Amino acid sequence: MDIFSTDQKYIASTYKRFPVAISHGKGSEVWDFDGKRYIDMGSGIGVTAFGIADEIWQQAVTEQIGKVQHMSNLYYTEPCVKLAKLLCEKSGMKKVFFGNSGAEANEGAIKAARKYAAEKKGSDYYTIITLENSFHGRTLTTLAATGQEHFHQLFQPLTPGFIHVPANDLDAMKKAVGEHKIAGIMMEVIQGEGGVKALDEAYVKAVAELCSSEDIVLIIDEVQSGNGRSGAMYAYQNYGILPDVVSTAKGLAGGLPIGAVLLGEKVQNIFSYGDHGSTFGGNPVSCAAAVSIVERIDDALLAEVREKSAYLFETLGKAEGIREVSGMGLMIGLTTEKPAGEVLAECMKRGVLCLTAKDKLRLLPAINIPMPVLKEAAEIIAEACR
Ligand SMILES: *Cc1c(COP(=O)(O)O)cnc(C)c1O
Repeated sequence: MDIFSTDQKYIASTYKRFPVAISHGKGSEVWDFDGKRYIDMGSGIGVTAFGIADEIWQQAVTEQIGKVQHMSNLYYTEPCVKLAKLLCEKSGMKKVFFGNSGAEANEGAIKAARKYAAEKKGSDYYTIITLENSFHGRTLTTLAATGQEHFHQLFQPLTPGFIHVPANDLDAMKKAVGEHKIAGIMMEVIQGEGGVKALDEAYVKAVAELCSSEDIVLIIDEVQSGNGRSGAMYAYQNYGILPDVVSTAKGLAGGLPIGAVLLGEKVQNIFSYGDHGSTFGGNPVSCAAAVSIVERIDDALLAEVREKSAYLFETLGKAEGIREVSGMGLMIGLTTEKPAGEVLAECMKRGVLCLTAKDKLRLLPAINIPMPVLKEAAEIIAEACR
């Protein structure tokens, strides 16, 4: 079958794909159908957290598939309970709702904030503040939350009740809180799609304090930055804050669909029977996969993520043709002298798969990428930037 032309004929044209068809992979290396090898510095947009076909992950998945692949949420199953306990222990949150994607996790987080505010302050307290340049998903509500106008065009009307303020501008945040009836503030502490930018520590701390003093629900979107990628289990832990709600997805199940809303103390009991649900949510295979990932995100692994990050900041920071390195952990943005798209194409030719975010080259390798493979990729990226 000609994959390229059949795709073009039968798949909705929402994705501008590169002319590469991946056949298989192992760890941080993948091969196309012609046998060409690539180093995977995108990991399926931060999804294959431990690389392709990781053996421990694979065993967890196949074992669970052999037992029960799905049960409705009318019955108890073990993997989702195990995962929820692990996530609470590692995040400081108290309860978990499982869905299937980042957008769905954010929808759940927004519902939690709105219900909390409606009960506590009244149903006119529904507005959610998010940041300019943020990205929170593609559903009509998470698009409304996303602070980038170009995603909104042609899909109006979006869900009402969202306003956007500039990042790292505490006065603008305080002004918005003063002028509107606010249910929640939602932000990525490291903006991903918006250009791999870590927020200022003082700003994040001040927003957390504002939420606590005004009894506003603080939602941190860890869909991309979570699950070890930032060098901490969750990126907010690098900032010394504890949110009220955390949403996460992408890397959580190492390559199977999952989304999770982690509810902190303030909102732990906000959902009652019938308030929210998801047919596939808490799927035993996805949850067993996620347990096999989350169990391995320990202090030693996180230290390695920080070491590899320091290596990339150092070598790429001084490479010719690279103006700036941004981000945190293994969530990295490169401001290149050549257009990022050109560098990406050059990397691909030389056997390294990268991503872009806005005008930057973006790197989201597997969080366990072996150092020699990372070095090889960094050298090729540096050459491509020259
Ligand atoms: C990718 C992403 C989302 C959306 O996740 P989906 O699984 O595509 O719905 C939401 N927030 C952030 C920060 C993301 O990076």
